[in-house]
Amino acid sequence: MTTLWFGGTFYTMQAPGHTTDAVLTDGHKIIALGEDAKAQHATEHIDLAGAYVYPGFVDSHLHTIGYGEKLLHLDVSAFTKRSALLEALAERMQQAQPDDWVIAIGYNEAQFDDSAYPTLAELDALGDAHLIIKRQCHHLIIANSKALAFAGITEATTVAGGVVEADKGVLKDAALYLIVNHMPHITPAYIERALTLALDSLLAMGVTGGHSEDLSYYGPPSQPFEVFTRLAQGRFKAHLLQHHATFAVSNTFQATRYVALGAMKIFVDGAFGGHTAALSEPYADKASTGMLVHTTAELTALVREARVAGREVAVHVIGDRAIATILDVFEALPPQKGQRDRIIHCSLINEALLARLARMPIIVDMQPQFAHESRALLTERLGEARMPYVHPLGSLLRAGICVAGGSDAPIEHPDPLRMIEAAITHPNPSERLTRYEAVQLVTTNAAHAIHERERGKIAPGFDADFSVFTGDIFSADLTRIHACKTVVDGRIVYDKALGR
Ligand SMILES: [Zn+2]
Repeated sequence: MTTLWFGGTFYTMQAPGHTTDAVLTDGHKIIALGEDAKAQHATEHIDLAGAYVYPGFVDSHLHTIGYGEKLLHLDVSAFTKRSALLEALAERMQQAQPDDWVIAIGYNEAQFDDSAYPTLAELDALGDAHLIIKRQCHHLIIANSKALAFAGITEATTVAGGVVEADKGVLKDAALYLIVNHMPHITPAYIERALTLALDSLLAMGVTGGHSEDLSYYGPPSQPFEVFTRLAQGRFKAHLLQHHATFAVSNTFQATRYVALGAMKIFVDGAFGGHTAALSEPYADKASTGMLVHTTAELTALVREARVAGREVAVHVIGDRAIATILDVFEALPPQKGQRDRIIHCSLINEALLARLARMPIIVDMQPQFAHESRALLTERLGEARMPYVHPLGSLLRAGICVAGGSDAPIEHPDPLRMIEAAITHPNPSERLTRYEAVQLVTTNAAHAIHERERGKIAPGFDADFSVFTGDIFSADLTRIHACKTVVDGRIVYDKALGR
């Protein structure tokens, strides 16, 4: 079946400013553009009513199921009325099955009209499921009787390093792990609920695909893989990184058109916040250079395992010492011809590293929203002198390195418009991208990162994946526009007008 898409402005991403006014698709492929498209007979016509169309946006690094878990939990951080809190909890409890766990996050009684915690009797009256409310500080939870009973907590329970107030359902510090570390929630049904929410949310923001890392966090890797395969079919293009701990298992899975298997994921270092990113010079506020997760010998063994399996490697690296360490390994064990390893985050570089990176067959996966996170804390950690080399978005692109863009959701919000906004307003003006470069991060470059030669552009022979917006990303105030249709393989998988 052929479809003529018309009535919109199609930015092809073949070159800056290049547009067409019509696209003809046949099943999952684009077969013609412009006059060529309009001259041919089409079985179906879809009028885009003045909207702006881009190649399908792909988040180059996120944790899709983790994002769904964030959506699954009830966020009460904005609540200020005790009655509203109880109402919202009641609604969740009534939808839940008796075996389910309802989890509310972000509770802060200081901002409530009535700062008294909900009583155990009030919580028990809400429904039959397990319920816990996590206080914003993460040092206190309030549980209902069912959750207390699940963990065997009674008035006689005591915990070293924690406080149990069983009559109130209140557990503090070490005591809260009696429940939190033992919730039996990682079931296929739970994964399915989280992934359903995540995919619906992503499609509603115009995201047609994502390079996602989930396989080692939800029981045996076959469990999340099976759910992914089922739920992504026909509506979302997932490319799953494979954590080294479960690589030998996941690398035997059968990929589909909608769920591909990708590089081996390895964590090289930690993060700036906890002083665990590996630095070449000590932190400004601590006599430490951070930590490496693996020794060089261990990294070498893992990279060799990936090379033997014919896979590329995708590494979490934040600090400059971590980047130097992994480049040593990559230089000693280069990938096969045509392959490109992925450097995820790449948050702190220097001139020498930039030159080394530019010589390697690599992709850098950046999260432009990271650049806007707590500059004050970062300055404290790294000192002023290193700040020009933090989140080097523009520098990497100008060095000729292919940079793909993502959110690392649930860390950052996966709305691609927020990522684009963050990239064009980088706090360091010399690292800012043009709007065209920012859109390349989630179209042409995200496709190049995984060797997809028929994705990332609107052109004959390319996949019919479109992200359709109410305004022009290349000129509009991005806070005033939104996705209105999302198309995957020629099918409308989200339509704002229909509410789904
Ligand atoms: Zn991540």
